Amino acid sequence: MKQIYLDNNATTPVHPEVLEAMLPFYRDQFGNPSSVHWAGRAVSGAVEKAREQVAALINCSPAEVVFTSCGSEGDNMALKGTVDALRDKGNHIITTKVEHPAVLETCKYLERTGCEVTYLSVDQDGMLDLAELEAAITERTILISVMWGNNETGNIFPIEEIGQIARKYKIRFHTDAVQAVGKVPVDVKKAGVDMLVLSGHKIGAPKGVGAIYIKRGTRMTPLLHGGHQERNRRAGTHNVAGIVALGKACEIAGRDLEKNAAHMRRLRDKLEAGIKAAIPQIKLNGHPDPDKRLPNTLNVSFAYIEGESLLLNLDMYGIAASSGSACTSGSLEPSHVLGAMCVEVTLAHSSTRFSLGPQNTEEEIDFVLDVLPKTVQRLREMSPLYNCRNEEQCETCETIRRL
Ligand SMILES: *Cc1c(COP(=O)(O)O)cnc(C)c1O
Repeated sequence: MKQIYLDNNATTPVHPEVLEAMLPFYRDQFGNPSSVHWAGRAVSGAVEKAREQVAALINCSPAEVVFTSCGSEGDNMALKGTVDALRDKGNHIITTKVEHPAVLETCKYLERTGCEVTYLSVDQDGMLDLAELEAAITERTILISVMWGNNETGNIFPIEEIGQIARKYKIRFHTDAVQAVGKVPVDVKKAGVDMLVLSGHKIGAPKGVGAIYIKRGTRMTPLLHGGHQERNRRAGTHNVAGIVALGKACEIAGRDLEKNAAHMRRLRDKLEAGIKAAIPQIKLNGHPDPDKRLPNTLNVSFAYIEGESLLLNLDMYGIAASSGSACTSGSLEPSHVLGAMCVEVTLAHSSTRFSLGPQNTEEEIDFVLDVLPKTVQRLREMSPLYNCRNEEQCETCETIRRL
Protein backbone atom coordinates (compact mmCIF):
# COMPACT_ATOMS: atom_id res chain seq x y z
CA MET A 1 0.00 0.00 0.00
CA LYS A 2 1.09 3.56 -0.73
CA GLN A 3 2.10 5.54 2.32
CA ILE A 4 1.22 9.19 2.27
CA TYR A 5 2.60 11.22 5.12
CA LEU A 6 0.66 14.43 5.77
CA ASP A 7 1.59 14.93 9.42
CA ASN A 8 4.77 16.98 9.06
CA ASN A 9 3.82 19.35 11.89
CA ALA A 10 4.13 16.34 14.24
CA THR A 11 7.49 15.27 12.91
CA THR A 12 9.33 15.04 9.59
CA PRO A 13 11.32 12.30 7.88
CA VAL A 14 15.09 12.75 8.16
CA HIS A 15 16.45 14.38 4.99
CA PRO A 16 18.85 12.02 3.16
CA GLU A 17 21.64 14.67 3.10
CA VAL A 18 21.17 15.14 6.84
CA LEU A 19 21.51 11.43 7.54
CA GLU A 20 24.68 11.31 5.42
CA ALA A 21 26.16 14.23 7.35
CA MET A 22 25.50 12.77 10.78
CA LEU A 23 26.51 9.13 10.29
CA PRO A 24 30.30 9.59 10.73
CA PHE A 25 29.61 10.85 14.24
CA TYR A 26 28.11 7.50 15.16
CA ARG A 27 31.20 5.72 13.76
CA ASP A 28 34.81 6.89 13.94
CA GLN A 29 34.11 10.50 14.96
CA PHE A 30 33.23 9.56 18.51
CA GLY A 31 35.16 12.18 20.49
CA ASN A 32 33.85 14.48 23.18
CA PRO A 33 33.96 17.99 21.70
CA SER A 34 35.13 19.37 25.05
CA SER A 35 38.33 17.25 24.95
CA VAL A 36 41.53 18.97 23.79
CA HIS A 37 43.08 15.94 22.05
CA TRP A 38 42.67 14.88 18.41
CA ALA A 39 39.49 12.92 19.05
CA GLY A 40 37.80 15.94 20.61
CA ARG A 41 39.15 18.52 18.19
CA ALA A 42 37.80 16.67 15.14
CA VAL A 43 34.37 16.76 16.64
CA SER A 44 34.35 20.26 18.15
CA GLY A 45 34.95 21.66 14.68
CA ALA A 46 31.80 19.93 13.47
CA VAL A 47 29.76 21.31 16.37
CA GLU A 48 30.98 24.83 15.63
CA LYS A 49 30.21 24.44 11.94
CA ALA A 50 26.67 23.39 12.85
CA ARG A 51 26.38 26.46 15.08
CA GLU A 52 27.30 28.64 12.10
CA GLN A 53 24.71 26.87 9.94
CA VAL A 54 21.94 27.49 12.49
CA ALA A 55 23.06 31.11 12.94
CA ALA A 56 23.07 31.71 9.18
CA LEU A 57 19.49 30.50 8.84
CA ILE A 58 18.09 32.86 11.48
CA ASN A 59 20.58 35.75 10.99
CA CYS A 60 22.39 35.81 14.31
CA SER A 61 25.95 35.33 15.49
CA PRO A 62 27.03 31.71 16.14
CA ALA A 63 27.84 32.70 19.74
CA GLU A 64 24.12 33.39 20.24
CA VAL A 65 23.09 29.80 19.41
CA VAL A 66 22.73 27.25 22.22
CA PHE A 67 22.04 23.62 21.37
CA THR A 68 19.28 21.83 23.27
CA SER A 69 17.65 18.42 23.24
CA CYS A 70 14.36 19.58 21.70
CA GLY A 71 11.96 22.44 21.16
CA SER A 72 10.29 21.79 24.51
CA GLU A 73 13.60 22.22 26.30
CA GLY A 74 14.20 25.53 24.52
CA ASP A 75 10.77 26.84 25.52
CA ASN A 76 11.25 25.71 29.14
CA MET A 77 14.68 27.30 29.22
CA ALA A 78 13.47 30.63 27.80
CA LEU A 79 10.60 30.93 30.27
CA LYS A 80 12.06 29.48 33.46
CA GLY A 81 15.50 30.95 32.81
CA THR A 82 14.06 34.43 32.32
CA VAL A 83 11.78 34.28 35.36
CA ASP A 84 14.68 33.21 37.56
CA ALA A 85 17.13 35.77 36.20
CA LEU A 86 14.68 38.70 36.32
CA ARG A 87 13.18 38.08 39.75
CA ASP A 88 14.22 41.59 40.83
CA LYS A 89 12.40 43.16 37.85
CA GLY A 90 9.00 41.51 38.07
CA ASN A 91 6.99 38.33 37.75
CA HIS A 92 4.47 38.93 35.00
CA ILE A 93 4.46 37.02 31.70
CA ILE A 94 2.26 37.70 28.68
CA THR A 95 1.57 34.80 26.34
CA THR A 96 -1.37 33.48 24.29
CA LYS A 97 -4.02 30.83 24.73
CA VAL A 98 -2.89 29.05 21.58
CA GLU A 99 0.76 28.29 22.41
CA HIS A 100 2.20 24.81 22.23
CA PRO A 101 1.98 22.88 25.55
CA ALA A 102 5.75 23.38 25.94
CA VAL A 103 4.97 27.04 26.63
CA LEU A 104 1.49 26.72 28.17
CA GLU A 105 2.38 24.02 30.69
CA THR A 106 5.58 25.84 31.62
CA CYS A 107 3.50 28.95 32.28
CA LYS A 108 1.09 26.98 34.45
CA TYR A 109 4.04 25.64 36.43
CA LEU A 110 5.44 29.15 36.80
CA GLU A 111 2.06 30.37 38.07
CA ARG A 112 2.31 27.78 40.85
CA THR A 113 5.69 29.25 41.81
CA GLY A 114 4.32 32.79 42.11
CA CYS A 115 4.31 34.21 38.58
CA GLU A 116 1.37 35.99 37.07
CA VAL A 117 0.52 35.04 33.52
CA THR A 118 -1.79 36.79 31.06
CA TYR A 119 -3.07 34.44 28.35
CA LEU A 120 -4.15 36.57 25.39
CA SER A 121 -7.31 35.52 23.54
CA VAL A 122 -7.60 35.05 19.82
CA ASP A 123 -10.49 35.83 17.50
CA GLN A 124 -12.48 33.30 15.46
CA ASP A 125 -9.73 33.22 12.85
CA GLY A 126 -7.20 32.50 15.59
CA MET A 127 -5.49 35.89 15.44
CA LEU A 128 -4.33 38.17 18.28
CA ASP A 129 -5.40 41.70 19.07
CA LEU A 130 -2.17 43.67 19.55
CA ALA A 131 -4.00 46.43 21.42
CA GLU A 132 -4.97 43.78 23.97
CA LEU A 133 -1.32 42.74 24.20
CA GLU A 134 -0.16 46.30 24.77
CA ALA A 135 -2.88 46.89 27.36
CA ALA A 136 -1.78 43.81 29.29
CA ILE A 137 1.71 45.20 29.92
CA THR A 138 2.37 46.31 33.50
CA GLU A 139 5.37 47.56 35.48
CA ARG A 140 5.96 43.96 36.51
CA THR A 141 5.98 42.45 32.99
CA ILE A 142 9.28 40.72 32.29
CA LEU A 143 8.48 38.56 29.29
CA ILE A 144 6.28 38.33 26.21
CA SER A 145 6.11 34.86 24.66
CA VAL A 146 4.23 34.47 21.37
CA MET A 147 4.74 31.67 18.87
CA TRP A 148 5.73 32.47 15.29
CA GLY A 149 3.50 29.92 13.58
CA ASN A 150 0.78 27.82 15.15
CA ASN A 151 1.22 24.05 14.90
CA GLU A 152 -2.50 23.28 14.66
CA THR A 153 -3.93 25.96 12.38
CA GLY A 154 -0.74 27.19 10.74
CA ASN A 155 -1.61 30.78 11.65
CA ILE A 156 1.38 33.13 11.46
CA PHE A 157 1.57 35.77 14.17
CA PRO A 158 2.82 39.33 13.54
CA ILE A 159 6.16 38.77 15.22
CA GLU A 160 7.79 41.99 13.94
CA GLU A 161 4.97 44.13 15.31
CA ILE A 162 5.07 42.33 18.65
CA GLY A 163 8.85 42.82 18.67
CA GLN A 164 8.30 46.56 18.27
CA ILE A 165 5.92 46.62 21.22
CA ALA A 166 8.35 44.61 23.32
CA ARG A 167 11.18 47.02 22.53
CA LYS A 168 9.03 50.09 23.19
CA TYR A 169 8.40 48.86 26.73
CA LYS A 170 11.85 47.23 27.08
CA ILE A 171 10.36 43.83 27.73
CA ARG A 172 12.08 40.62 26.75
CA PHE A 173 10.48 38.77 23.83
CA HIS A 174 10.56 35.02 23.24
CA THR A 175 9.11 33.25 20.23
CA ASP A 176 8.56 29.54 19.67
CA ALA A 177 9.51 29.32 16.00
CA VAL A 178 9.50 25.52 15.84
CA GLN A 179 6.87 25.48 13.08
CA ALA A 180 7.97 28.64 11.28
CA VAL A 181 11.58 27.66 10.61
CA GLY A 182 12.01 26.20 7.13
CA LYS A 183 8.54 27.35 6.04
CA VAL A 184 8.79 31.15 6.20
CA PRO A 185 11.82 33.46 6.39
CA VAL A 186 12.97 33.75 10.00
CA ASP A 187 15.29 36.62 10.87
CA VAL A 188 15.82 37.33 14.56
CA LYS A 189 17.14 40.86 13.93
CA LYS A 190 14.22 41.89 11.74
CA ALA A 191 11.78 40.27 14.18
CA GLY A 192 13.32 42.00 17.19
CA VAL A 193 13.24 38.88 19.35
CA ASP A 194 15.52 38.17 22.30
CA MET A 195 15.01 34.42 22.32
CA LEU A 196 13.87 32.08 19.57
CA VAL A 197 13.37 28.33 19.76
CA LEU A 198 13.64 25.76 16.99
CA SER A 199 13.57 21.97 16.85
CA GLY A 200 15.45 19.52 14.63
CA HIS A 201 12.78 16.91 14.01
CA LYS A 202 10.34 19.43 12.56
CA ILE A 203 12.81 20.40 9.81
CA GLY A 204 14.31 17.16 8.55
CA ALA A 205 16.78 16.40 11.35
CA PRO A 206 16.22 13.53 13.78
CA LYS A 207 14.42 13.72 17.11
CA GLY A 208 16.35 14.78 20.20
CA VAL A 209 18.04 17.99 19.10
CA GLY A 210 17.06 21.63 18.98
CA ALA A 211 18.48 25.08 19.46
CA ILE A 212 17.66 28.34 21.14
CA TYR A 213 18.84 31.75 19.99
CA ILE A 214 19.66 33.92 22.98
CA LYS A 215 20.51 37.51 22.09
CA ARG A 216 23.96 38.52 23.29
CA GLY A 217 23.88 39.96 26.81
CA THR A 218 20.55 38.35 27.78
CA ARG A 219 20.65 37.30 31.44
CA MET A 220 19.23 33.82 31.84
CA THR A 221 19.52 31.06 34.41
CA PRO A 222 20.36 27.70 32.82
CA LEU A 223 17.96 24.79 33.06
CA LEU A 224 20.78 22.24 33.29
CA HIS A 225 23.69 22.86 35.63
CA GLY A 226 26.97 21.00 35.32
CA GLY A 227 29.85 21.36 32.87
CA HIS A 228 30.78 24.53 31.06
CA GLN A 229 29.37 23.57 27.67
CA GLU A 230 27.53 26.11 25.55
CA ARG A 231 29.15 29.14 27.30
CA ASN A 232 27.66 27.98 30.58
CA ARG A 233 24.17 28.27 29.18
CA ARG A 234 23.50 24.53 29.00
CA ALA A 235 25.51 21.78 30.69
CA GLY A 236 25.80 18.29 29.27
CA THR A 237 28.03 16.59 26.73
CA HIS A 238 26.93 17.56 23.25
CA ASN A 239 24.70 15.33 21.14
CA VAL A 240 27.26 15.66 18.37
CA ALA A 241 25.53 13.63 15.64
CA GLY A 242 22.22 15.37 16.37
CA ILE A 243 23.86 18.81 16.34
CA VAL A 244 25.61 18.10 13.04
CA ALA A 245 22.26 16.94 11.67
CA LEU A 246 20.52 20.10 12.89
CA GLY A 247 23.22 22.24 11.27
CA LYS A 248 22.81 20.45 7.96
CA ALA A 249 19.01 20.63 8.17
CA CYS A 250 19.26 24.40 8.76
CA GLU A 251 21.59 24.79 5.79
CA ILE A 252 19.12 22.92 3.59
CA ALA A 253 16.15 24.82 5.05
CA GLY A 254 17.81 28.11 4.08
CA ARG A 255 19.01 26.89 0.70
CA ASP A 256 15.64 25.39 -0.33
CA LEU A 257 13.28 27.71 1.56
CA GLU A 258 11.67 29.44 -1.42
CA LYS A 259 11.41 26.29 -3.49
CA ASN A 260 10.00 24.20 -0.62
CA ALA A 261 7.57 26.87 0.55
CA ALA A 262 6.23 27.36 -2.99
CA HIS A 263 5.89 23.59 -3.50
CA MET A 264 4.08 22.98 -0.20
CA ARG A 265 1.90 26.03 -0.77
CA ARG A 266 0.81 24.85 -4.20
CA LEU A 267 -0.08 21.36 -2.95
CA ARG A 268 -1.75 22.66 0.22
CA ASP A 269 -3.86 25.12 -1.80
CA LYS A 270 -4.81 22.32 -4.18
CA LEU A 271 -5.86 20.12 -1.27
CA GLU A 272 -7.82 22.98 0.29
CA ALA A 273 -9.60 23.87 -2.95
CA GLY A 274 -10.30 20.21 -3.70
CA ILE A 275 -11.83 19.62 -0.28
CA LYS A 276 -13.97 22.75 -0.51
CA ALA A 277 -15.20 21.75 -3.97
CA ALA A 278 -16.01 18.12 -3.15
CA ILE A 279 -17.19 18.13 0.46
CA PRO A 280 -20.06 20.26 1.80
CA GLN A 281 -20.48 21.28 5.44
CA ILE A 282 -16.89 21.80 6.38
CA LYS A 283 -15.19 24.53 8.33
CA LEU A 284 -11.67 25.77 7.74
CA ASN A 285 -9.93 26.30 11.07
CA GLY A 286 -7.40 29.11 10.97
CA HIS A 287 -7.07 32.32 9.02
CA PRO A 288 -9.06 32.24 5.77
CA ASP A 289 -6.25 34.13 4.00
CA PRO A 290 -3.72 31.45 3.01
CA ASP A 291 -0.91 34.04 3.22
CA LYS A 292 -1.59 34.34 6.94
CA ARG A 293 -0.95 30.62 7.45
CA LEU A 294 2.21 28.54 7.16
CA PRO A 295 2.37 27.30 3.56
CA ASN A 296 2.03 23.64 4.58
CA THR A 297 -0.87 23.57 7.03
CA LEU A 298 -4.55 22.92 6.48
CA ASN A 299 -6.97 22.32 9.37
CA VAL A 300 -10.55 21.42 8.49
CA SER A 301 -13.58 20.31 10.47
CA PHE A 302 -15.82 17.86 8.68
CA ALA A 303 -19.21 18.29 10.33
CA TYR A 304 -20.95 15.18 11.69
CA ILE A 305 -17.85 13.01 12.00
CA GLU A 306 -15.19 12.53 14.64
CA GLY A 307 -11.69 13.57 13.63
CA GLU A 308 -10.37 10.40 15.23
CA SER A 309 -12.56 8.08 13.15
CA LEU A 310 -11.67 9.94 9.97
CA LEU A 311 -7.98 9.50 10.83
CA LEU A 312 -8.37 5.77 11.37
CA ASN A 313 -10.23 5.44 8.09
CA LEU A 314 -7.65 7.47 6.18
CA ASP A 315 -4.95 5.34 7.80
CA MET A 316 -6.52 2.29 6.14
CA TYR A 317 -5.66 3.94 2.80
CA GLY A 318 -2.12 4.66 4.01
CA ILE A 319 -2.82 8.35 4.60
CA ALA A 320 -1.31 9.79 7.81
CA ALA A 321 -2.90 12.99 9.09
CA SER A 322 -3.69 14.29 12.56
CA SER A 323 -6.61 15.37 14.68
CA GLY A 324 -5.60 18.11 17.05
CA SER A 325 -1.91 17.99 17.88
CA ALA A 326 0.01 14.75 18.33
CA CYS A 327 0.63 15.61 21.97
CA THR A 328 -3.06 15.84 22.80
CA SER A 329 -4.36 12.98 20.69
CA GLY A 330 -5.16 10.06 22.92
CA SER A 331 -7.11 12.40 25.15
CA LEU A 332 -10.72 13.21 24.39
CA GLU A 333 -10.30 16.89 25.18
CA PRO A 334 -10.92 18.99 22.10
CA SER A 335 -7.96 21.12 21.03
CA HIS A 336 -7.20 24.12 23.27
CA VAL A 337 -6.37 26.10 20.13
CA LEU A 338 -9.77 25.52 18.53
CA GLY A 339 -11.36 26.10 21.94
CA ALA A 340 -9.68 29.52 22.15
CA MET A 341 -11.05 30.29 18.68
CA CYS A 342 -14.57 29.47 19.95
CA VAL A 343 -14.99 26.65 17.45
CA GLU A 344 -18.16 24.85 18.51
CA VAL A 345 -17.28 21.68 20.47
CA THR A 346 -18.64 19.09 18.04
CA LEU A 347 -16.87 20.85 15.18
CA ALA A 348 -13.65 20.95 17.20
CA HIS A 349 -14.00 17.19 17.65
CA SER A 350 -14.29 16.75 13.90
CA SER A 351 -11.15 18.73 13.07
CA THR A 352 -8.41 17.15 11.00
CA ARG A 353 -5.00 18.59 10.29
CA PHE A 354 -3.10 17.97 7.08
CA SER A 355 0.47 19.21 7.29
CA LEU A 356 2.64 18.85 4.22
CA GLY A 357 6.36 18.55 3.70
CA PRO A 358 8.71 19.20 0.80
CA GLN A 359 8.66 15.48 -0.01
CA ASN A 360 4.92 15.33 -0.78
CA THR A 361 3.87 15.00 -4.41
CA GLU A 362 0.98 16.08 -6.59
CA GLU A 363 -0.03 12.41 -7.07
CA GLU A 364 -0.34 12.02 -3.31
CA ILE A 365 -2.70 15.00 -3.09
CA ASP A 366 -4.73 13.60 -6.00
CA PHE A 367 -5.05 10.31 -4.15
CA VAL A 368 -6.20 12.05 -0.96
CA LEU A 369 -8.75 14.05 -2.94
CA ASP A 370 -10.03 10.80 -4.41
CA VAL A 371 -10.32 8.97 -1.08
CA LEU A 372 -11.36 11.74 1.30
CA PRO A 373 -14.82 12.71 -0.05
CA LYS A 374 -15.93 9.06 -0.21
CA THR A 375 -14.65 8.40 3.28
CA VAL A 376 -16.32 11.48 4.74
CA GLN A 377 -19.60 10.58 3.07
CA ARG A 378 -19.49 6.99 4.34
CA LEU A 379 -18.76 8.12 7.90
CA ARG A 380 -21.48 10.75 7.75
CA GLU A 381 -24.03 8.19 6.74
CA MET A 382 -23.16 6.24 9.88
CA SER A 383 -23.48 9.30 12.10
CA PRO A 384 -26.67 9.65 14.17
CA LEU A 385 -26.40 13.44 13.89
CA TYR A 386 -26.30 13.35 10.10
CA ASN A 387 -29.64 11.59 10.25
CA CYS A 388 -30.97 13.86 12.98
CA ARG A 389 -34.77 14.02 12.76
CA ASN A 390 -35.03 16.84 15.23
CA GLU A 391 -33.38 19.54 13.14
CA GLU A 392 -35.69 22.33 14.25
CA GLN A 393 -34.61 22.14 17.88
CA CYS A 394 -31.15 20.68 17.53
CA GLU A 395 -28.36 23.13 18.41
CA THR A 396 -25.67 21.15 16.64
CA CYS A 397 -27.75 20.95 13.47
CA GLU A 398 -28.24 24.70 13.72
CA THR A 399 -24.47 25.27 13.97
CA ILE A 400 -23.78 23.01 11.02
CA ARG A 401 -26.52 24.59 8.93
CA ARG A 402 -24.74 27.92 9.27
CA LEU A 403 -21.53 26.56 7.69
C1 LIG B 1 6.76 20.27 18.08
C2 LIG B 1 6.63 21.62 18.70
C3 LIG B 1 7.29 21.92 19.90
C4 LIG B 1 8.06 20.89 20.67
O1 LIG B 1 9.24 20.52 20.03
P1 LIG B 1 9.93 19.13 20.47
O2 LIG B 1 11.24 19.17 19.77
O3 LIG B 1 9.03 18.06 19.96
O4 LIG B 1 10.03 19.15 21.94
C5 LIG B 1 7.17 23.19 20.41
N1 LIG B 1 6.44 24.12 19.78
C6 LIG B 1 5.80 23.89 18.62
C7 LIG B 1 5.04 24.97 17.97
C8 LIG B 1 5.87 22.61 18.04
O5 LIG B 1 5.22 22.39 16.91
